[in-house]
Amino acid sequence: RAKSAGGNRFELADPEADARAITRHGLTTALPAALDRGEFFIEYQPLVHLGDGSVRGAEALVRWLHPQHGVLGPDRFIPLAEHTGLIVPLGRWVLEESVRQAREWGERYGDGTADRPLRINVNLSPCQLSHPGLVQDTVEILERTGVQPDSLCLEVTESALIGADNDLLKPLRRLAEMGVDIALDDFGTGYSNLANLRRLPVSILKLDRSFTQSMQRFPADPVDLKIVEGIVSLAHSLDLAVTVEGVETGAQAEQLRILGCDTAQGWYYARPGPPERLHELALVDATG
Ligand code: C2E
Ligand code: MG
Ligand code: MG
Ligand code: MG
Repeated sequence: RAKSAGGNRFELADPEADARAITRHGLTTALPAALDRGEFFIEYQPLVHLGDGSVRGAEALVRWLHPQHGVLGPDRFIPLAEHTGLIVPLGRWVLEESVRQAREWGERYGDGTADRPLRINVNLSPCQLSHPGLVQDTVEILERTGVQPDSLCLEVTESALIGADNDLLKPLRRLAEMGVDIALDDFGTGYSNLANLRRLPVSILKLDRSFTQSMQRFPADPVDLKIVEGIVSLAHSLDLAVTVEGVETGAQAEQLRILGCDTAQGWYYARPGPPERLHELALVDATG
């Protein structure tokens, strides 16, 4: 908070806030060069089928190996990249790199250890949605890598689509028509009207971690159980699959399976990790 005393409006009273602001500024200005220097990398977290426990794919989660600050999570820099517009080239890089990775997994699976390709989930920021190159970039990346559109899922947060007009939905519709899955991420944290779901070109609901957390207690709060049960049945009646985030215990996984959720993701199965790790997990799974 700036002090007004002495008319010096730039004197900062809170050194921690000051340091945070300096870091934020430093990170923001370092972003473009970081992309050029290849300081970003992607960790992959498996998506597991709740019915049979098999690994069906992974979500790509970007990190920044900063030369001074070490590994930074996306919450530290995605908002800055969105603010400066760097999210467009950064997001394109994440998409290309993770689809290429999915292609590599596909090649390794050519030896018959698994009969279905691993799917890749990639997060999209709202800025990417409104960027005119999205559809073409995605088509080009899929063509270049030879990955089938139905092996790709783009995750868009519920809040990004609240009140979205037709112009914003058009590229998503186009991608969905091509066979790309669209997932509504962090579902349940926004205030979207459930009936509104019909209007959106989504095929997957990702139930936010806050729901999973309420399953931690045993027995879980009966009202929470009813809410999740209701969301799952509504989703299924609209032909949407349900993925749950943040599963940390076997009890949660079991509860969510009973409630009818289709796919799960969380530390109980694996933390986000390097691509080789996913390959190991999927391979163990495929060979028993
Ligand atoms: P998200 O898409 O909802 O991703 C799930 C987040 O939950 C990830 O955090 C993941 O590491 C974390 N998580 C997974 N399992 C568990 C669990 O069992 N317990 C707990 N407590 N957390 C778990 P992360 O990697 O820090 O990413 C945070 C957010 O940053 C993501 O949330 C996503 O919105 C955004 N993000 C990540 N990568 C990208 C990207 O390439 N582009 C864009 N636009 N956003 C990204
Ligand atoms: Mg996500
Ligand atoms: Mg999520
Ligand atoms: Mg989330």
